[in-house]
Amino acid sequence: MHAIGKIFKYNSCKIHLSLKKRWGNKMSKKKKVSSTGRFGSRYGVKVRDSMKEIEEAKREEYECPRCNHEQVERESTGIWACGRCGLKFAGGAYKPQLGKKIKRVIEEEE
Ligand SMILES: [Zn+2]
Repeated sequence: MHAIGKIFKYNSCKIHLSLKKRWGNKMSKKKKVSSTGRFGSRYGVKVRDSMKEIEEAKREEYECPRCNHEQVERESTGIWACGRCGLKFAGGAYKPQLGKKIKRVIEEEE
């Protein structure tokens, strides 16, 4: 009885160690750098991925249509301002220029 208990204890300890080795390394290497890390596991991968794309596009600096310098920043939804020449203009909600698909539709309507 005593011996069996000892063997079990040894085995479970061995399993625990191997799990710790396998999972511990992975867990310590995995670091969330994404802006959507604040959501944890909520809302699903697809939604979080598209949110990440939008937030990255929002923060990026774009080329100014007047002075051609990459200093256009998002001021508010659809409002873009150049930090160099002060030009303020309307654009997309998250990107100063609309996508090709939307542009094409507008051109067709005109
Ligand atoms: Zn400018």
